[in-house]
Formats: sequence, structure tokens, C-alpha cells
Amino acid sequence: MIPIAKPFLTEEEAQAAYDTILTGWITQGPRVQEFEEKFAAYTGAKYAVAVSNCTTALHLSMIVAGIGPGDEVICPSMSYIATANSIKYVGATPVFAEVQPETYNLDIADVEKRITKRTKAILLVHQIGMPADIDAFQELCDRYGLRLIEDAACAAGSAYKGKKIGSHSDIVCFSFHPRKVISTGDGGMITTNSQDHFERLKLLRQHGMSVNDRVRHESVKMIFEDHIEIGYNYRMTDIQAAVGIKQLEKLDWIVEERRKVAAAYIAAFQDIDCVRLPLEKNGYFSNYQSFSIYLKQNCLVERNTLMQELLQRGVATRRGIMTSHRETAYKNLMPNIELPISQDLQDRSIILPLFVPMTSEEVETVSNHFAQTVTAASICS
Ligand SMILES: *Cc1c(COP(=O)(O)O)cnc(C)c1O
Repeated sequence: MIPIAKPFLTEEEAQAAYDTILTGWITQGPRVQEFEEKFAAYTGAKYAVAVSNCTTALHLSMIVAGIGPGDEVICPSMSYIATANSIKYVGATPVFAEVQPETYNLDIADVEKRITKRTKAILLVHQIGMPADIDAFQELCDRYGLRLIEDAACAAGSAYKGKKIGSHSDIVCFSFHPRKVISTGDGGMITTNSQDHFERLKLLRQHGMSVNDRVRHESVKMIFEDHIEIGYNYRMTDIQAAVGIKQLEKLDWIVEERRKVAAAYIAAFQDIDCVRLPLEKNGYFSNYQSFSIYLKQNCLVERNTLMQELLQRGVATRRGIMTSHRETAYKNLMPNIELPISQDLQDRSIILPLFVPMTSEEVETVSNHFAQTVTAASICS
């Protein structure tokens, strides 16, 4: 069976975790600080704050952006559900906008139509690693006095207009879940160029504590901490950070390897006219966190039938990215939402295996089975 994904972890990551455990300092400490400094340097952002996962990163981002009850935040419904949930956590309302069929990213014209007096921010997702048009959304936010928050959960190592994701705007959130391109088990990071955000995020992730454990530990003078606001325990551990430092060293290589697989798929499916392949426009650089293919109307094999057939041939696949408004939690809260483009994309997309290392035999096996199954049943060359 060829799996849909697997994390690229080696002896080096295992050794780093082992060594960290034996130092006796296992929660947020020196390794977390080192990982933050290296991640900031990698992305080109001034600061980075490590947290327990991307969902908590998004929650803290809502708080530092000043989002609260009564506010609206525009985001895609077609995203992992944590995107919308993070808006609910602060008592605000997610307002779902449509995405572009070619990129799965927010459709700016549709977003603009949904701006009201209550809108405070746009939560911009770089879906499955393909950067959204950050400059255009920043311009829209500036024009309406809105905050821009980037959900870059899937986009570590992706780039937009020659600069890595993480350096463009004031709040960018990353995930290190095993389904993303680099992993620390669970884990998240927020990059920012704002010193105010940096200081507040550090407070909020650790109970609002004025002095962190490491500073207190290293101090030669007595220090007593104060808890200056109600915070959270959203810390990353030093064990995770030690793994993250090793993963970060490999990130550019992992992205290059992923792009080779994506290029091989694109070459193999180029001439099949009943599928739409990912579109990477000039100035956009995807890490291909996932490789999603859309089955056009002239594709006669049903998506789920195709998935079952591929499974029987030893190829694991996943259906298209979920639409949050069709999950029970949101259906109950906000019934009657219709987002035809997002719904169609979810229903007619299929995600193929993509991981590192993937042998050329594996890539060929997936390509052949996919091409055969799709073309056999379709009016499609
Ligand atoms: C994975 C993902 C998240 C959640 O990340 P966690 O680290 O698992 O909390 C949020 N947004 C998007 C777009 C994601 O893909």
C-alpha cells in the first residue's frame, strides 16, 4: 500500500529528542528559543513564537489582533475546520467566502462583497501550501481598515514573490502536525515583524507570566513572577523544539523533493483533459503539502468510486479539502449557507500520495493507476 503521507524523520531527530531528555530540561526552554530564532531567520521575519500547535497559534493571533465578540472575520469555509474554530474561540463570527477553483485560495472579489461594518480581519489560508495573493489581500485590508492574519499551517517552505511565507505580514501561523511538510509531533509557530505582538504572544502562551521559566532559572537574583493577564498554557516543549530544529535544517530539501514528485504527476497527467491540475502562477512557490486534482464534468468516473478503485490497487488517496459549513458543528450554528464553488471542489477533488522519500517506482505506480482508472471510464483523452 502506498500511503497518502508520512513524515520525514531520521535518527537525527530521534537523537535530538534523546539528548534533550537527558539534559533534564524538557518543557519550553533553551531549545524552544533556538528553534524560534532559527525559524524567524529562515522565514525572514523579525520574530517567531513557538506554541503547542497551529490551532492555538491562530487563537492567540485572534487575541493580539484585537478580535472579540460581535466582530466578523472573513475566511474560507474550504479549509481545515481549525481555521473557523479559532475565530469562534474569541466569540467572533467566521464569515465564509468562496475560493478560486484553480488555487483553492480565497476569491478576493467574493471576500470584498462580504465586508460589513462588523468585519475586523481577513484570515487568509495558503491552502495545501499554495500561497494566496498576500499583496492583494493586504491592499484590500488597508483600504477597509482590516487586520490580515495568515493561516500558513500548510505553507512552511512555500514562497510568494521571492520571499518565504512568514515574512510578509504581521501575523503568520504555522503547523508542525505530522500531516504537514515538517513535524514536531504536534507544534505550531507564529512569525511577526511586530515587537508588540511578539511580547504579547510570549505572555499569552505561558499563563500571562511576566518572567519565563528560563529567565528565572538562570537568574542569580531572586525573581518573583507576576501574572499580568489571563493567559493560556500553549507552550511547545524543548523535546519538540529539538526535533523541529533538525526538521528545519531539512525543510528546503524536503520542499525540493516534494516539488519533483509534483512535477512528475503534472507531466504524467498533462494530456488528460478531464482533470484540472494544481496551478502555480509566476511569483508563487508551493511546497506541495498536498497534491489535489479536480475531476472535471467530463470525467465519468465518480470521485468516490475512483478512490475505492485506487485503494484496491494499493494506492491510498483522500477526498478534497473539507468545507467547514457542511460539518455538523457549523451546520447547526449557521444553516442555509451555500458555497457552490467550495462544495463542488470538495466533492470532485482527490488528493494523491506525496511524501519524502518517494521512489520513482512509487510515483510511477500512482501515476499509472490514476491515469488508467480515470481515462478508462471517461470521455477523456
Ligand atoms: C492543519 C491545519 C490547521 C491546524 O493545525 P494544528 O497544528 O493541527 O492545530 C489549521 N489550519 C489549516 C489550514 C490546516 O491545514
